[in-house]
Amino acid sequence: MGKVISIFNQKGGVGKTTTNVNLSAILAMKGKRILSVDIDPQGNSTSGFGIDKNDVDSTIYDCLFSDIEESGESSAIVETDVENLHLIPSNIELAGAEIELTKTVHRENTLKNFLGKIREDYDFIFIDCPPSLGLLTINALTASDSVIIPIQCEYYALEGVSQLVNTVKLVKRNLNPKLDIEGIVLNMYDGRTNLSIQVVEEVKKYFKNKVYKSIIPRNVRLAEAPSFGQSIVEYDEKSKGAEAYTNLAEEFLGRI
Ligand code: ADP
Ligand code: MG
Repeated sequence: MGKVISIFNQKGGVGKTTTNVNLSAILAMKGKRILSVDIDPQGNSTSGFGIDKNDVDSTIYDCLFSDIEESGESSAIVETDVENLHLIPSNIELAGAEIELTKTVHRENTLKNFLGKIREDYDFIFIDCPPSLGLLTINALTASDSVIIPIQCEYYALEGVSQLVNTVKLVKRNLNPKLDIEGIVLNMYDGRTNLSIQVVEEVKKYFKNKVYKSIIPRNVRLAEAPSFGQSIVEYDEKSKGAEAYTNLAEEFLGRI
């Protein structure tokens, strides 16, 4: 049974999608069977994997509302350029899902029910969450065994973190007792600034040994790779970003 992990932080721009794309790709290259599920209507992970989000037959929307077929096969699952790496794409169609989910009977469990039918085909399923605490995110947390939380090394880094931890606790208490924090990824680190160094200290004080030792530096190659629809190791294997995400993938596996 594959482990289901949400990449979660209700703040935008902290590195959820970057972490989803690169961790998924590197683990797949290491031979793990990976499914990456994009549940952000912006579809950034979808295009980050080189899939044209406006030219897909079906998306996560269909999985949530209609595509749960008898066989458990889903036509929304697409292959990517990376072997062992599958994707369920998303696009703007998903924007209406928040409202439609409120009308559904098992509204918090819809994604969990869908993934239950396919999780044995994978070693890891990563869910790239939208930057909000709406029903899509609640569905992701309810479907997950654990969460990876990317935090940006900037001035307001810890702002919103208590709310985020509270959300995890609430879901754990009411919907998903096994939900755990897998790890914290510090992102956009700049070792030349005191601020970055301070943020690392603060985050470590708060999350203790949950914080991954592999810290992701601010690296322009990481920002460029998505426009080529490539992970960082395909785009620039020698970059600092590729090195950091490779270390993170190894540390992640070591902890499992
Ligand atoms: P989120 O999914 O949390 O909104 P993203 O992963 O999309 O965040 O990152 C926000 C922006 O910052 C994107 O343009 C991305 O390419 C860029 N970015 C993310 N991590 C880094 C990094 N370590 N160095 C440089 N740019 C980064
Ligand atoms: Mg994103």
